[in-house]
Amino acid sequence: MGRRLGALRAALKDRKLDALLVSNPENRRYLSGFTGSAGFLFVTPEEAVLATDFRYVEQAGRQALAFRVLRTAAGYDWFPRLVAEARAQRVGFEGDAVTVALHGQLRKALPKAASVDRGGVRLVATTGMVEGLRALKDPEELRLLQRAIDIADQAMDRVVPAIRPGDTEAQVAWRLEVAMRELGAEGPSFDTIVASGPNGALPHHRAGDRAIQEGEPVVVDMGARYQGYCSDLTRTFVVGPVDETFRRIYTTVLRAQEAALAQVRPGMTGAEADGLARKVIEEAGHGDHFGHSLGHGVGLAVHEHPRVGPNAPEPLRAGSVFTVEPGIYLSGWGGVRIEDVVLLGARVARPLSKAKKLGLTGG
Ligand code: ZN
Ligand code: ZN
Repeated sequence: MGRRLGALRAALKDRKLDALLVSNPENRRYLSGFTGSAGFLFVTPEEAVLATDFRYVEQAGRQALAFRVLRTAAGYDWFPRLVAEARAQRVGFEGDAVTVALHGQLRKALPKAASVDRGGVRLVATTGMVEGLRALKDPEELRLLQRAIDIADQAMDRVVPAIRPGDTEAQVAWRLEVAMRELGAEGPSFDTIVASGPNGALPHHRAGDRAIQEGEPVVVDMGARYQGYCSDLTRTFVVGPVDETFRRIYTTVLRAQEAALAQVRPGMTGAEADGLARKVIEEAGHGDHFGHSLGHGVGLAVHEHPRVGPNAPEPLRAGSVFTVEPGIYLSGWGGVRIEDVVLLGARVARPLSKAKKLGLTGG
């Protein structure tokens, strides 16, 4: 936690901020270790304060060892007090996490004399300050992520072979969630997707009452949460015999994924990485049927930095963890998506997911 605070303080200096108010829950947890669901961090070059209410004060004291815990009552009068104590003038807040209503309340809490034109306090919107730090995983994070990934892998490999025609999507989703809990997950990292037949053409279909039919594609997209860390895994399979259409689509998606896994390098932009897989799918004539990004960072949130998609100009850095999940979706038929999580090393990407994939090379 000390290293993370140090990195944030360097970022404060870069942006000429005297303090940052952190309200995004994952950022709050990442910096402090506090897992409660309410509270603010107020970080300055010298001080680190966790402001939370009665319900969480004891927990915060146990978890956030690098922070002074401040018990708050209703309202925001603690905020101008901390600002004044720190003699802060430029106070950053997280533009992606603070609502217009909260911004208004924070402003109102500051004394009138502290308006900008009187040389007082300025609230400065920031984006991505803590998220940028979170994109690079430290060894402890990698350990927790790997555990979340292993749980989902094992649940997938345990449940999928036992699926029979007539099982509903919702039944399969429930078995996957039970398996993840039995394997030690806190819960699923997002609502489990089981999309059978034509439902597979909807990349974010949820599991419904539809019964799985023999011979049709089934997309399962799921993840486990372990000590706050999320995994994200997709496999596509068929219950019963595989037809020619499925074989063709599936092998195209698999080749696209393998191309990206083999060729992605640190320093490439998220868009260039996306292009490695997209090129394979376009050359197979399915460019219009791959309408989402190749992947996304994963960690305390199931979608986080880095961005890996056609509009992602930022370079991918060694030490980041992200998904590689090309797909092809055909309206009325269904979809195929294959998703693994990788750790980008100094030279190449190392897959962290190990769940079995359908072997379709044998004709
Ligand atoms: Zn997924
Ligand atoms: Zn994903």
